Parts: sequence; structure tokens; C-alpha cells
Amino acid sequence: MKGKLSVIGFGPGSFDHITKRAREAIQESDVVIGYNTYVDLIRGLLNEQQVVRTGMTEEVSRAQEAVRQAEAGKTVAVISSGDAGVYGMAGLIYEVLMEKGWRREDGVEVEVIPGISAINSVASLLGAPVMHDACTISLSDHLTPWEVIIRRVEAAASADFVIALYNPRSGRRTRQIVETQRVLLQYRSPDTPVGIVKSAYRERQDVVITTLGKMLEHDIGMLTTVIIGNSTTVVYDGLIITPRGYQRKYTLDADVQPLRPHERLRTEAEPWSLDAQQEEASKSVSEENKALAVESRSDGLSESVKGPYVVDSMLDPLGGPVYGARAEGESPLALALEALRLVDAHRGVPESAQGERNGYLFKQEQILEFAVSPGLAEKKLTAQQLMLLAEVVGEHGTMEYTPHHQMLVRIATSDPESVTGRLRAAGLLLAPVGDVAQIKACDFCNMDKADSVPYAEELHRRLGGMRVPKELKIGFNGCGMACYGAVKEDIGIVYRREKFDLFLGGKTVGRNAHVAQPVAEGIEPERLVETIERIVARYAADGHPNERFHKFYKRVKELEGYRYQEVPAFQIENAVCGD
Ligand code: SAH
Repeated sequence: MKGKLSVIGFGPGSFDHITKRAREAIQESDVVIGYNTYVDLIRGLLNEQQVVRTGMTEEVSRAQEAVRQAEAGKTVAVISSGDAGVYGMAGLIYEVLMEKGWRREDGVEVEVIPGISAINSVASLLGAPVMHDACTISLSDHLTPWEVIIRRVEAAASADFVIALYNPRSGRRTRQIVETQRVLLQYRSPDTPVGIVKSAYRERQDVVITTLGKMLEHDIGMLTTVIIGNSTTVVYDGLIITPRGYQRKYTLDADVQPLRPHERLRTEAEPWSLDAQQEEASKSVSEENKALAVESRSDGLSESVKGPYVVDSMLDPLGGPVYGARAEGESPLALALEALRLVDAHRGVPESAQGERNGYLFKQEQILEFAVSPGLAEKKLTAQQLMLLAEVVGEHGTMEYTPHHQMLVRIATSDPESVTGRLRAAGLLLAPVGDVAQIKACDFCNMDKADSVPYAEELHRRLGGMRVPKELKIGFNGCGMACYGAVKEDIGIVYRREKFDLFLGGKTVGRNAHVAQPVAEGIEPERLVETIERIVARYAADGHPNERFHKFYKRVKELEGYRYQEVPAFQIENAVCGD
């Protein structure tokens, strides 16, 4: 009678995390074979089984013994922690069987029973660090050449995988983790989140959240798994979270989504997908000559990602409040660039060349979208500004002329900070787009009537780019002529006789567009900014998603004491026919 081999992963170490099948298989067995510590961990499940305990480095004799006993007719349970197929006993058992010419049809029966591997158990304690493409790398060079291991570390780092390091360090192997950190730092920021978990779901469980730069300051040993985040991983409230990418298509803090369900899977909503890239590639075959010109550009824009675009809200290149996702502090890209410089400095790269090496740091390409104008009151673009814009937009970006005193720029870039930095340095005013507040000022008669400009600037500083339920235009004109149409905007402000007139609730689009209601005359200058700020804050807080300002005003009936006045509906006559 042929016996049976069950190769069992019993999970991280707690009874609650052993699968039902693993328990049964252990209990059904005649013999249990495993490393001492593991046998101790599952002792509570044993009844009459014969137990074969071995030392840690005796895997081969353990496997041979297991095969021997199974061939002698026994039901043998070989136990591994985590999953037996992940640096466990499953492979070795099959290798021993292969040596013996074992065949499935007439050899001993083998069942491999899956368990929760350390990458999963450890991740669950850290938050959700392994949400995206990840790999496991064992730093043990007892059986694998170090050269191979470190090449894999480098490949994983350069391809932006989340990495789970198994066997990171032991009493004798202490340098491997040091060398691994050094290589990882060539590709990732020292601020990359790192989780260090010792003895997950066991008695001496210890969870540490740190960074790539500081990871070696913590205790790392044989019972530890180290998880390195990718370039988008963040720490939130003591948890490590790797975004899945939902923010590319969804606005996570809004109920109403920019893309409707049926639109989400369209190629044009996924410009980063293979289909979109292929479509684009086939289009560009006929444009090869143009592409040659593109190659010589030095602005780092990729040729592979081209329009139609969506904004990736992860990065906040404009530093404004609009994208919401990031609180104060530096963007991950800025941190990554700083890391690049630190690594260079550490390696003795001359200061002038630091941070310049191409492809040195993994940078994710972003679709960057923003509005650009020569200034609030300034309406003239210089030739230099136009040339810079042309260069930044290049062959593949777009620049769209909008009805709002702004040009809408969309480009693909892996370095948004440098793009926006250059444009700002040239004196251009950059603003976020979307459902945000925008101050639309006049040219103050070429600055002849500039008295009220400071108020417009202060409003822009406080409210420009602020997130609101629907795009909100605040018109600001410097004299009673209001020739830039402030009174037609959502909120209109007109400077007249050293005071301000206020208009609320213009309906700026549609067949039934109408001007805003004049609600106040002669607002004292020192009260203006606060008044507007309170009105906008109320709209931001109480407006329904997508509710335009005029509808909001009509619904709430009163803002800062200014009452909405019902307007009689127009009677529209049928078109007159000539008789
Ligand atoms: N088969 C196991 C891995 C064995 S290699 C599995 O799938 O999880 C041994 C390494 O696994 C350890 O050095 C450690 O990196 C990791 N490991 C196993 N159990 C762990 C636990 N409970 N907590 C943290 N790391 C663990």
C-alpha cells in the first residue's frame, strides 16, 4: 500500500490563520515532520502522531525521511510556516521525488496544501502595502549566489515593485540587508515607507513602520519580513498603503464621479493602457518625421504617453489646495528628487552633476493639466513666455484657449515640478483646473486704474484654486464700466468710488444665461475680502456636488445677509413668421 505526502503551509503561526484543510491533513497523518520551532507551533493540533523534529538546516534529510515514510505506506505531513511552496518544503519534496523517478500515476500521492505566506500576513498588519505588483526576494545566500539576489533586488527596485524581503538577516548574514538598502536607495526615495514585521501572528509579534532611509535603525532578524513600498506608497495614520490607481479615474472624496460607469473602460479614459498606446503608435507611424524632432527634446516628456488625458491627482504640482489628496509638506516627487541628490552626494558625484543621471530614479509619468495666464491683471504674453510654453507643450501636449482668460495646458511629464517651476520663473500665473474657484480680473485699463488690484490679489491668494462643488468664477473689475464682464460671473465685484459693488449668482452658461443680481453697493474695502471668503466657504461647505453657484444661491436664499430675489420667468413667444 502506497502512503501519502501532505506538504502543508500552516500560515504565520496562529491557530486562527491555519486553513481547515491544513488542520485536517495534520490530524489525518501518521507522521508529522518539521523544523523544531514549527512542530512546537502546531503542537496543539497533534494527537497520536509520530513526530520527527529536525534542525533548521536539515531540510534535505527531512524531505528524504518524509518520502521514505510515505513509500513505506504512511500518511506523512510535512509542515512549513506560511505557504509550503514559498521558500518552504514543497519544492524540495518534489526534487527528492524527481531524483527517484517518481511518477504521479503510480508513485506516492502528494498533496500541497496552501497557507498564508508571510507577505500576506505581514501586509495585513501593516495596512495594505501590497496592493499593487509585488515580489518576494529572499536575502538568504546560503543556496542562491548573492550576485543573483542583488540583481533581482535592483530589477525589482527599478521596475517599481513593492518588495517583500524574506530571510532579511540572521546572526551570520548581516551585510545582505545593508547592501540591499544601498541598491534600493538608488531607485527610491529614502522616505519610501517600509514595514518591518517580526513574528506576525505569533507571541512576540512586533510591527514597525519606518522609511527606506531609516530601516536599518530597527531590529531585523530571522523571524522578520521587510516590506518596501513602491513610488506611490504612503503612510496614513500609522498604516502603509499602496494606492491601486483608483485616483486616476475616480475622485475618492466625491460622490459624483467625473467618469460615468460606462465611460470608465473606454480606451480614451485609460491613456496609459496598452490599447491606447497601440492606437497612438499606429497613428504616429505616419508621423515618423515629426518624431525625429521630438527625440531631440530635452524636457523629459515621454513619446509613449499621448493625449487624451486625465489628471492624475496623486501629485499636486501646483501646490494648491485643489487636488486635496496631499496635505502640507513636500510632494513624493520632490522627496524622490532630493533622495536622488543625496545618493549622488553620498557617492561623491560632483555637485553640479548631482541628480541629473537619467533613469537613475524611477519616476512615474503624470498627466499634468493646469491653466496658465500672464497674470491676474496682466493680459499681455511676452514672446519669451510664448516660446517657453511652446517648448513645454511640445509635439504631444495640448494648449487650449478657454473663455476664462487662461490657456489650458495638458502634458505628460515625469517631472511636473520642473515644468511648473520653469513656467512660474518666466512670470506666468499657473492655476489648477476643474471645480475650483478662479479670480477673473480685468486689465485695470492697462493698470491706469490699479487701486483695487491688491484686493484682487488677496482674493486670488485666499481663494484661487480652492475646491468648490462646481467651477466658480469670481469676476473682479476695476471700474464701473465693468468691461471685462464681472457682473456676468458667478460672483461679480466692481470697484467704484473707492468701494465695491457686489453681484451674486450670474448664470454664465446656457440659453437662459443671465447676469448676477446686484446685492450690495459701497462695500468698504476692508470688508470685501472677508465677505467674499465667507460666501465661497459656505458654497464649498453646503453646495451639493456639481451644484452651480447660482442654483446654490437660489436654494439657500441668503448669503451673508444678501437675499436672493426671485426673478420672473421670461415669457418666450414663438418665432414670428412673416405674413
Ligand atoms: N514559507 C514561508 C517562508 C519561509 S522563509 C512563508 O510562506 O511565509 C522564512 C522567512 O519567512 C523568515 O525569515 C521571514 O522573513 C518570513 N516569515 C515567516 N513567518 C513569518 C512571520 N510569522 N512573521 C514575519 N515573517 C515571517
